[in-house]
Amino acid sequence: MPNSERSPSLRRKAAALLLPALLAAAAPALAPAQPVGLPDLGDSAAQELSPRLEQRLGDAIMMESLRDPAYIDDPDLLQYLTGMARQLSAHAPVGTPNINVFAVRDPSINAFAMPGGYIGVHTGLVVAAQSESELAGVLAHEIGHVVQRHIARGLVQQKQDTLIMVAALLAALVAARGNSQAPEAAMAFGQAAAINSQLGFSREAEREADRTGFQMLEAANYNVNGMASFFGRLMQASGLNERTGQAFTRTHPLSIERMSDMQNRARGVVIHDRPSSSDFYFVRAKMRMLQANSGQDTLEAIRYFENRTTEAQGIERSAAYYGMALGYVRQRQYDKANDAYLAATSGARTHFMLEHLAIDLALARNDTQQAISLARSAVARWPEQRGLAMAMAESLQRAGRNQEAVDFLKEQMLKWSDEPRFYQMAAVSYSRLGSAVNERRNMADYYAMTGALPAAVEQLQQARAASKDFYEQSQIDAKVREYQRRLKEERDLLKRFQS
Ligand SMILES: [Zn+2]
Repeated sequence: MPNSERSPSLRRKAAALLLPALLAAAAPALAPAQPVGLPDLGDSAAQELSPRLEQRLGDAIMMESLRDPAYIDDPDLLQYLTGMARQLSAHAPVGTPNINVFAVRDPSINAFAMPGGYIGVHTGLVVAAQSESELAGVLAHEIGHVVQRHIARGLVQQKQDTLIMVAALLAALVAARGNSQAPEAAMAFGQAAAINSQLGFSREAEREADRTGFQMLEAANYNVNGMASFFGRLMQASGLNERTGQAFTRTHPLSIERMSDMQNRARGVVIHDRPSSSDFYFVRAKMRMLQANSGQDTLEAIRYFENRTTEAQGIERSAAYYGMALGYVRQRQYDKANDAYLAATSGARTHFMLEHLAIDLALARNDTQQAISLARSAVARWPEQRGLAMAMAESLQRAGRNQEAVDFLKEQMLKWSDEPRFYQMAAVSYSRLGSAVNERRNMADYYAMTGALPAAVEQLQQARAASKDFYEQSQIDAKVREYQRRLKEERDLLKRFQS
């Protein structure tokens, strides 16, 4: 394993070597050769994967995932998905697991649970959901796998091959240099999916996840039929050899038995007839547009929405216009985008995602005055939306009002202490204000929050060198010591795992 004595470039190389090797180690078809640069695993490696080790493993995969081009960095979507998952997991049978959901740009219908409570949802899955309860049904099933610790239990059962992968991921974590350009690392979802498909949940695990998921779905007042109707359509699709549905059914094998269990369970409870929220329709429209990978795809998605505007009514019609507007923004046809936005708001309809779009449109026109004024009222009206807060900070930055941006961002950090993006944005403004120390310190916070402790230490050391204030220097020193202590704990954790 890379350690502090080695040169940074060697460490970087080691980390770069590890990741493609992981894919090889994870592919069952390939010989389980010990890949170059991997830590050696002793016989006792098959020991229990503790919740803490599982969490750190999940963090390591997630840290790589943030660099994956398929990762969708959209605060509105993240907040919606994670919010829904937490409503469900609040009703978990034992304890409340820490769940974080993210979206993956991929038209196939799939979702996967990673170690540490991270759940990835493909855009294709959201697009295919016909109601919010259907989406909640799939999420509940995935949370069921998390609650039952199927990933950790599966990893331990996998013995050597997968454990090599686990050790490699942990080694990559303690060697992390932060979000430097590392195209080799851009295959994180390959790893996550590989872990899932290698584990290939057993029938028993599927039944457990269904049962636990069902309980959470019911307790959170979703329509419990959502689970059966979505899985039913998936099973039909995979029976017809439709490629889109196969990804999910490969890792979560569906059977007639499972389907009838689901239906029987639903018969035993009162069905909540819960209409989908307006958030669901706007989120689904955005997912459809975000999964378009080419100009041609974008054009097709715009046409799809255009048709929907003539068929659909009410909120669905508004969401179709919203989708059209997003498409035109992509094509840089801002006048058309604005027309579609206005059509989406007809009948005095308002939604925070429509307002977010209006801010983006103002920024696209370089009308920063308008963007700031729209953002200010949107933040006041929907104070619980992080995406709007980010749009506000971005508008101030675009207007060159960096001191105001910093002040605003500091307020948001107090409100959402777990959001790394505010620190990253603050670093940008500090850099423009010529404050190198504050820039580095905020980047250090950003790295520490995304799990890249070595990168955080590096930033702090640079901040320390640039600082001329004794008090500030000792504050920085204290933080360096804290991160180094945490880093040592990580390395010890890995060592214990190895020996
Ligand atoms: Zn499953």
